[in-house]
Amino acid sequence: MLRPQYLPCILLLCILLCNCGASASRKTEASETEQLSFPSFSADSAYVFIERQVAFGPRVPNTTAHKRCAAYLSKELKRFGAEVFEQAAELKAFDGTKLQAVNIIGSFNPTQSKRILLCAHWDSRPWCDHDPEPQNRKQAVSGANDGASGVGVLLEIARLIGKQPPSVGIDMIFFDAEDYGAPQDAKTDMQDSWCLGSQYWAKHPHRNGYRASYGILLDMVAAPGATFYREQISEYFAPNIVEKVWKEAQRLGFGHYFVNKKGGAITDDHLYVNRISGIPCIDIIQFDPQSQSGFGHYWHTVNDTMENIDKATLHAVGSTLIHVLYKE
Ligand SMILES: [Zn+2]
Repeated sequence: MLRPQYLPCILLLCILLCNCGASASRKTEASETEQLSFPSFSADSAYVFIERQVAFGPRVPNTTAHKRCAAYLSKELKRFGAEVFEQAAELKAFDGTKLQAVNIIGSFNPTQSKRILLCAHWDSRPWCDHDPEPQNRKQAVSGANDGASGVGVLLEIARLIGKQPPSVGIDMIFFDAEDYGAPQDAKTDMQDSWCLGSQYWAKHPHRNGYRASYGILLDMVAAPGATFYREQISEYFAPNIVEKVWKEAQRLGFGHYFVNKKGGAITDDHLYVNRISGIPCIDIIQFDPQSQSGFGHYWHTVNDTMENIDKATLHAVGSTLIHVLYKE
């Protein structure tokens, strides 16, 4: 994804106006008895799902690792009882490369009309263009956090849904070709060179007229001590969903991860889900206001490896999502 931007003042004004109405629609909290019946998110299991993706090697489109990982992800979703669609598309990258991309979609309880969309990107970046060492910059990113972590959390949720379905229908989309965007030093504005898989899906949904009540995107959700701020595009398009998720995280005692403050505006897959599909979608993404990039030190470097995957962070994110979904 592209580094945080700052929204123009008019958008900020809209954000403020939207936020005023959000608190009125808060739901009452579920009883303790109800919560006991929620499945328990296993960070160990999510960790293994991340490790398996990383073991294929960087999942860069047009590589063998990418093909093999796609087959693995489809197989796992089927194993957990999802109806799986593999949406293949040839997508043109900013440099003219034709990417053989595939969005992998798993639908649970497909006849249920109330649906929630959960998504993450599964590809990895072909270059470590933010590595401090110039000799590393031609290498592909391992993408343990940037890619595999969001998918790992969703696979663990898929496993739990397979055992104990929530009352709503869930669609999971693993978007391809998110991270093939133009390097930061590109001369022209190439914001739309990122998120090619989600742009394609938003224009060509896997079902005609596909709707979901809302969407949640996960990206870089596993670093030790990660902080997730209220991302500005999410606040603009889906302030009530941001409120719902951050409030649930605070209530569960994860307020040190889900910081109740405004973060940057990040070009990520949720932008196109919001803008093109019209489905309100938020992004849970690590944001570090102290760092130059706005992201973790490992971002787009050779250090985006399993050493930067932390089970406590996975537990915070996964447990929050389980509570949000099973309260619907
Ligand atoms: Zn990235």
